[in-house]
Amino acid sequence: MLQECHGYHPLRRNQNVFPFSAATADAEVLQLLTAVVAPGGVADTGAHLYHFTTGTLDRITDGCRPDCPYSTWLLARGDAHGLQVTGRHATAQAARATRAHAHRRWRNKISRSLDDLLWRLL
Ligand SMILES: [Zn+2]
Repeated sequence: MLQECHGYHPLRRNQNVFPFSAATADAEVLQLLTAVVAPGGVADTGAHLYHFTTGTLDRITDGCRPDCPYSTWLLARGDAHGLQVTGRHATAQAARATRAHAHRRWRNKISRSLDDLLWRLL
């Protein structure tokens, strides 16, 4: 995909946040495991705040403020919370639309089917 973006393109701004997304997902999984498994009998280790620049981790064990949305009206809502947190990203939407359009082309569908068939024959 990036090979197709020549010169200046919004997708080539070197703003790759994948490592931070992966680290966040990792932290969430570990906190879930701690809550479920309760290693050493401890299920609640508090809120964790990792500082990338210093490499330090703060733990907040005071609990939530009374007005904290995460422990009140957002609790256990999952994707049904109804909030739009980040807003729309016009460039990302355009890139997704271009990819979706390419996937619908007959030539691409035939190429993918042929490729799948060849892989099955190997
Ligand atoms: Zn809270």
